[in-house]
Amino acid sequence: MNLDFDPALEQFREDVRSWFAHEYPKDILEKVARGESLTTPDVRRAEMALGAKGWLASAWPKEHGGPGWSIEEQYIFDEELERAGAPTVTPMGVVYVGPVVYTFGSEEQKARWLPGIADGSVGWAQGYSEPEAGSDLASLQFSAVQDGDEYVLNGTKIWTSAANHADWIFLLTRTSQEAKKQLGITFICAELDQPGVTVKPIISIDGKYHLSQVDFVDVRVPVSNRIGEEGKGWTYSQYLLGNERTSYARIGGKRAQLANIRAIASHIPTGGNARLIDERAFAARLSAVEMKVDALEITVLRVLSAVSDGGAPGKEASILKIMATETAQEITELFWVAAAEHGLRKFADSVSPDWTGHNAFAAPGIATYFGTRAQSIYGGTNEIQRNIIAKHVLGL
Ligand SMILES: Cc1cc2nc3c(=O)[nH]c(=O)nc-3n(C[C@H](O)[C@H](O)[C@H](O)COP(=O)(O)OP(=O)(O)OC[C@H]3O[C@@H](n4cnc5c(N)ncnc54)[C@H](O)[C@@H]3O)c2cc1C
Repeated sequence: MNLDFDPALEQFREDVRSWFAHEYPKDILEKVARGESLTTPDVRRAEMALGAKGWLASAWPKEHGGPGWSIEEQYIFDEELERAGAPTVTPMGVVYVGPVVYTFGSEEQKARWLPGIADGSVGWAQGYSEPEAGSDLASLQFSAVQDGDEYVLNGTKIWTSAANHADWIFLLTRTSQEAKKQLGITFICAELDQPGVTVKPIISIDGKYHLSQVDFVDVRVPVSNRIGEEGKGWTYSQYLLGNERTSYARIGGKRAQLANIRAIASHIPTGGNARLIDERAFAARLSAVEMKVDALEITVLRVLSAVSDGGAPGKEASILKIMATETAQEITELFWVAAAEHGLRKFADSVSPDWTGHNAFAAPGIATYFGTRAQSIYGGTNEIQRNIIAKHVLGL
């Protein structure tokens, strides 16, 4: 891949940047900047604005309702979305289940589900984890029993992100206790708004409601909601996880955060009586993280380039997942160190008058610090990613 973007790509970048500056809902950008949670109507409006432009399912081929962009265009688009401060697109529809539907689903399922995912009008949630099946996902016990042309669903899914904004959930279910654990798993989709389904909020450490427990009691769904073959759900789930883990890089957002930290640090007066940080040590740490973001960028481009040549992300996606999430956590640590130093100076010394604009970042920044702890847990913990690398990449 040629990393020097040619003039046509730079023009593409300008067009995307200008669209976010002039056409994207401003009130949503302002809410995100203030660190406020988006309501379901906000999420729908934000995603439908992208959907109306044909940009929501940014990695999909044209034949399935995507823009058919090259890897470079997708990458520039993601960077500009994050640079604009727009909320991350809810991945469960466009990044996770959409590609599973167009790769393994029937023609009827493609016609039924893909348009609502691509235009942002229908929200999805991911029902993998259970109270007794997280890292050891293949032990899941959520049951689907076929009764005529329906499956009867019973069980509990937990840590379900964005279920409060979702209309549908894709579920890993157990359809056989006989076979090897992985071979008794089936991939089934269900509507959330139906009798027998209860969505219970879980408030996370950042004080927000992103997560739910979703209980199913004797919920009937048509067999036509099953994707692919019965007992093949594990294969589809692993394909999905490859895409999920590759999607964590979020380079544009990381660069915007680092620029923000630089701005905050530059407003901390040097000298003074009170200090938490050694300036040179802080600058060295900041530079080291910036280099990690550069390395992450090259690595993600390498993986995406292989995908565009016809491959799937593969087990190397685990390397990206670890790099991306640990770097994200280091960035938020730098943020609170700088914010704490500034807070201390504010009381102990005088603060430069042009500082005030940066105060607004402290509260959402600390919530982001707490929220980012979860990145090394979800999508399969980083310990599990290390196991995958040892076994499947290094062959140990
Ligand atoms: C913010 C957030 C959002 C989430 N969103 C979703 C979602 O939308 N849908 C969904 O299905 N799930 C979601 N999850 C669940 C997530 O995938 C699980 O939390 C994760 O897989 C870990 O499972 P667990 O919580 O059961 O921990 P456990 O599996 O109990 O692990 C506990 C600890 O033991 C370690 N451990 C376990 N087994 C091993 C091993 N073999 N080797 C080394 N260490 C090991 C783990 O790394 C971890 O540190 C989310 C989680 C969070 C925190």
